[in-house]
Amino acid sequence: MSNFTVAKFGGTSVANHQAMERCATIIKNDLANRVVVVSASAGVTNHLVRLGQESVPAAERNEIIASIREIQLNIIEAFTGDHNLGDFVDEKLSQLGEIAEIQAQQHSVKNADEILSFGEQLSSALFTQVLNELGVNAKCFDIRQVMKTNSLYGQAVVDIEALKTKAIEHLAPLTKDSVIVTQGFIGQDGLGHTTTLGRGGSDYSAALIAEALDATNLSIWTDVVGIFTTDPRITDQARAIPEISFGEAAEMATFGAKILHPATLIPAMRQNIPVFVGSSKEPEQGGTFIQQSVSSSPTYRSIALRREQTLVTVKSPAMLHASGFLAKVFAILAKHELSVDLITTSEISVALTFDNPTGSTQSLINNSVLAELEQLCEVSVEHGLSLVAVIGNNLHATKGLGSSVFDKINDFNIRMICHGASSNNLCFLIPGQDANTVVEQLHDTLFAA
Ligand code: ADP
Ligand code: ASP
Ligand code: MG
Repeated sequence: MSNFTVAKFGGTSVANHQAMERCATIIKNDLANRVVVVSASAGVTNHLVRLGQESVPAAERNEIIASIREIQLNIIEAFTGDHNLGDFVDEKLSQLGEIAEIQAQQHSVKNADEILSFGEQLSSALFTQVLNELGVNAKCFDIRQVMKTNSLYGQAVVDIEALKTKAIEHLAPLTKDSVIVTQGFIGQDGLGHTTTLGRGGSDYSAALIAEALDATNLSIWTDVVGIFTTDPRITDQARAIPEISFGEAAEMATFGAKILHPATLIPAMRQNIPVFVGSSKEPEQGGTFIQQSVSSSPTYRSIALRREQTLVTVKSPAMLHASGFLAKVFAILAKHELSVDLITTSEISVALTFDNPTGSTQSLINNSVLAELEQLCEVSVEHGLSLVAVIGNNLHATKGLGSSVFDKINDFNIRMICHGASSNNLCFLIPGQDANTVVEQLHDTLFAA
């Protein structure tokens, strides 16, 4: 197959007209880019999250809608060609206002997703015009025609087969004559309602579309020049990684490296599609190539950090020499759709961690979960921990790993350690307030220049 790239631009890349123009130039310079997946303009989804919450007062709703309008109209003002996008934005925002009013009176997760989808609906229409004004024949495509999901609003699961069939039927033919601009993050359930794939989900959307269309490449354009040894916002010592294996990058994404949505690499790995990550601001700087095999496999590749983790310790003397205790604990967790992340055990107690993917301030471990667990055992719950993951290769067979990692962070309370199940990571929990310092010190130790 000839080169066929799916390109994804994140929120900061489509934040304003100048940023959009830079992205449009990237597309124009390489017309192998046939499908462009965009996020909402920076800040818009956060506004929409608030708008979709319960009982938001009318004055605040109006303010939010006015802020979104301003972001989008600033982009439109810079257009020079013919268009009716001002009317389009106004019409969309009036629909949004109506749904938000209903939501304020009677909250539903379904409407929250409908509300969230407006960010990508707006940015994709505007970005199409930016491409057209640069002389690229571009058309906007509503991804909900093909991105079919279940009805788990907020974290919808995509029907990969349906996506593939529908994308080949409805989307692929359009890419022959035009560059297709579409929305990340959103989908549609069997009842025709809009769904979303979870925060940061546009990366995943792009990877799914690349898989469905059998693309030769996936490019993720963001605000940093590739994947770094750790989040460059934590330490200026972080360095860009020129190439990394699928497995290592997937571990990074899973363990919190925000640069990629955790599920992004799953479709890419299934179809062996190389992924490029680069900066839409500085495309000439190159970036990171993620692929199946790479020329080096260093012991230490990167450090990822995931905040707001919950640690639950269950303790029962009945566990001593007993069988089936853990099965009962897991049955309760499964019933409440809680997915356990890390686990350590001792003779009479088990410690389990839970991620908080929605960033919700409400405890995942609600009173009914607690009540059921407490019938079995003593339960303690700790919030506000951070999970640090050291990612690399052959870690399970590396002598001196413990001292290399822990010697320099002696001053911190390591709450839990997980190592051995994977050759690619060593994870531990620390108090949230120490997270940045721990990552910084660890980075200095493991990645000293
Ligand atoms: P986008 O809006 O383009 O999807 P995100 O904000 O979701 O961008 O992801 C990019 C951000 O991810 C960077 O600005 C950086 O702060 C953060 N990040 C976290 N870990 C890493 C890492 N290991 N390498 C690069 N960036 C990282
Ligand atoms: N706009 C969505 C978000 O902010 C999806 C994305 O940016 O990937 O979470
Ligand atoms: Mg992102």
